[in-house]
Amino acid sequence: MSELFSKCRADAEAHARAEYPRESVGLVVSVRGKPAYVPCRNQSEEADHFILHPEDYAATEDLGDIIAVVHSHPDAGPEPSLHDIASHAASRMTWWIVGLKDGAATWHVMPAAGEMPLEGRVFVHGAIDCYTLVRDYYRQELGVELMDFHRKDDWWHNGESLYVDNFAKAGFVPVATPEPGDLIVMAIGSPTPCHGAIWLEGDVLLHHLYGRLSCREVYGRAYRECTTHILRYKGVLPTI
Ligand SMILES: [Zn+2]
Repeated sequence: MSELFSKCRADAEAHARAEYPRESVGLVVSVRGKPAYVPCRNQSEEADHFILHPEDYAATEDLGDIIAVVHSHPDAGPEPSLHDIASHAASRMTWWIVGLKDGAATWHVMPAAGEMPLEGRVFVHGAIDCYTLVRDYYRQELGVELMDFHRKDDWWHNGESLYVDNFAKAGFVPVATPEPGDLIVMAIGSPTPCHGAIWLEGDVLLHHLYGRLSCREVYGRAYRECTTHILRYKGVLPTI
């Protein structure tokens, strides 16, 4: 889970402890790309179960984009129960579970049904490539839907410059030093800036290189030397 969520996680954990021994339930809402935890009422009469109050869901939806449903396991680990697995699949949303077994909080994240995990993906150009990972990261982690671009294989050798030509239109501005969630654009194996990665806390890149699985790795010298842009998402201005 991204560092952007540490405050959300701490708030959700505090809520889980306050509700103990009942299950807590809440929502993570993204307000212009900034996530916040919203505690909700649990309508369930049973101890080891939750039903999120529909009024709380509706009120949270008015604040921004709901990006995750959170609940607690007061006396167990965070692994989903059979009921959780079924309800998660039906909800088509991302779930976070916090387990409070033996007093320590541990987390389990269930990506929305149909979402690919961010790491360990196989590269398929134009379908599962570096920009697919960037878009999925922004949607899954920040609740931001970035625009998509049709791209032909090998576009970087054919006079196209997907990142440089489009970043302003997609809501990004160049910055000098990266912060978590920023987009690092690099010219790798080509004079054209052809590769995009997400910069994360700890000087780590989350990215997907051609011919490799998507992964996290240190933003080392070789990557710095081929970096052409550091871009920060500021949102897309409404078109008139
Ligand atoms: Zn559960």
